[in-house]
Amino acid sequence: MVISEISVKNYLTASKIGSFCVNPYVGCPHACKYCYASFMKRFTNHPEPWGDFIDIKITEKPINLRKISGKNVIMSTVTDPYNPLEAKYVITRKILEQLVESDCHLQIITKNKLVLRDIDLLKQIKNLTVAVSINTTDETFRRDMDQGSSIADRMMTLKTLHENGIRNVLFMSPIFPFITDWKELILQTRGYVDHYWLEDLNLRGGYKKAILDYVKVKYPQYYDSYLNIYSRGNRIELYEEDKEIIGWCEENHISYSDYFHHEEVISDFKGKIFTGK
Ligand code: SF4
Repeated sequence: MVISEISVKNYLTASKIGSFCVNPYVGCPHACKYCYASFMKRFTNHPEPWGDFIDIKITEKPINLRKISGKNVIMSTVTDPYNPLEAKYVITRKILEQLVESDCHLQIITKNKLVLRDIDLLKQIKNLTVAVSINTTDETFRRDMDQGSSIADRMMTLKTLHENGIRNVLFMSPIFPFITDWKELILQTRGYVDHYWLEDLNLRGGYKKAILDYVKVKYPQYYDSYLNIYSRGNRIELYEEDKEIIGWCEENHISYSDYFHHEEVISDFKGKIFTGK
């Protein structure tokens, strides 16, 4: 792991996703095989593979609380604010110490139980959601895909957040078609999860081949369907699975937000198979 400290002007960046995002690090040791943020490598001059480098952002400039007043702030969009280096560098915690005074709508997204270290601060933040990403109940698959906390630790994290009155979200992302056991995951966690975000696997980056090769070896029974969805532009099976998940959530009164890539599906199949929900 190549670790560098870099000086930056500001932790805040204007974002299309929320009003602002805060990324305390560049790079992410969680090294998820499907990481959308790995495109960041292009802008960093890092020769190391994604997951093998991290830049620790250092600045003395305080967060401009007036600028983010009432706005959405996402922490983080291209790194995990609770990656293991945070235990030593404490950048995220120092940012939270400032955000305690803010009325922004803060969303923290992580795969690491380290977030619980800051529960004293989290309890003081006014408009907060903490999302923990889990996309399987299969620890072998999880370990193959990411280096975050174990599934059991992430579930414990969601439960602890809930017990402390902090609004939590299980961010089921990315949902691997046919591989993510979404129903089991919801059944195991619904007692302490406030809301589910559902997002499908999006294979566009340089990691597409690696994921398809993985599926071919570990889940050969789904390989042809993956080629249909991700190489042949035939996403109907993805749409059908989304429909099944949503239908089940509705029937079982699960609070959810669906972030499947419907536009692509609808434009691919418009007029042929369905006309939308
Ligand atoms: S935790 Fe998030 S930012 Fe880090 S490698 Fe995984 S997907 Fe990328």
